[in-house]
Amino acid sequence: MKLEEITEPLLSWYEENKRDLPWRREPTPYHVWVSEIMLQQTRVEAVKDYYRRFLAELPGIRDLAVCPENKLLKLWEGLGYYNRVKNMQKAAKEIVEEYGGNIPPDYEKILALPGIGSYTAGAVSSIAFGLKKPAVDGNVLRVISRITENGEDILKQSVKRRMEQELEAVMPEDRPGAFNQSLMELGATVCIPNGMAKCDACPVRHLCGARAHGTVLDFPKKAAKKQRRIEEKTVLLIQNGQEYAICKRPDKGLLAGLYEFPNMEGWLTQEEVLSAVEELKLMPLHIRAAGEAKHIFSHVEWHMKGYVVKVASTEEKKAGNLLFINKKESKGKYPIPSAFSAYRKYIEED
Ligand code: SF4
Repeated sequence: MKLEEITEPLLSWYEENKRDLPWRREPTPYHVWVSEIMLQQTRVEAVKDYYRRFLAELPGIRDLAVCPENKLLKLWEGLGYYNRVKNMQKAAKEIVEEYGGNIPPDYEKILALPGIGSYTAGAVSSIAFGLKKPAVDGNVLRVISRITENGEDILKQSVKRRMEQELEAVMPEDRPGAFNQSLMELGATVCIPNGMAKCDACPVRHLCGARAHGTVLDFPKKAAKKQRRIEEKTVLLIQNGQEYAICKRPDKGLLAGLYEFPNMEGWLTQEEVLSAVEELKLMPLHIRAAGEAKHIFSHVEWHMKGYVVKVASTEEKKAGNLLFINKKESKGKYPIPSAFSAYRKYIEED
């Protein structure tokens, strides 16, 4: 089978079957860029609302370039991987300064922008500018490794690069964007992972090596991932009247610059929690458990136990680096990552 044989059946299938998605209606370079970054971490259905909200607040690249960081992080709250949106803002500033506010119609220049890898550069170049550049993500790697029965580890950069070269060689000159999207769409809706591939509905089933040999479940190949590190944490919900304490995370590292509930390494006993609160120069009156929660990042898992500690009332809005806020104040102002979603109800209105 020659790889170019997949082009025609895929394009015809895509025309008939493509989903009506908000970013496909007006695929400007900015729209494609925003949607692709969001889609790297979240399901299509969940992205739709984030996408609408983001563009309503920041309709153009210049708006993104000057958006205050707190507002930007708030718009991203729940999507995770906050560095991605911070890099988008860096790139937006560069686009304003270097290119007059327009993404340049040049793959290499797009690739050189902060936070943009070969996948996003390929998607923007091909979909928005009609340039013949591939966009190879996990979906595409899965589809192609099944069709070609490629048993190499798809997590290796060298394997991805070779697949990009092979696809670039067979992409149609006139419809590179539709071609890339047809592969992504096939991977998202038909050639899906976990033994669920719908081969009978696949437009390239007659060309697919894995289907012909009954080896679909063997592809793609991935080297075993490293185990995630487990971190135990105690989360304090320090209550002062109607207010709860939050603090800002450091400007660097995981979840940089976001807000969080004060927390400590390890699972503290109730007595240890009470002394920790006293060390903050607050007087604890009452403590109760606030439940356990788990959050999974790419390399770390947080296993959390929470406690509500009511303290003797203080008029001060601050105690050390703690800031007391009520549900009204928290709205739109203090981005709190979804790692703390089990405890956010204490400071967010229903
Ligand atoms: S025939 Fe099945 S395994 Fe092959 S590309 Fe289509 S859906 Fe994927």
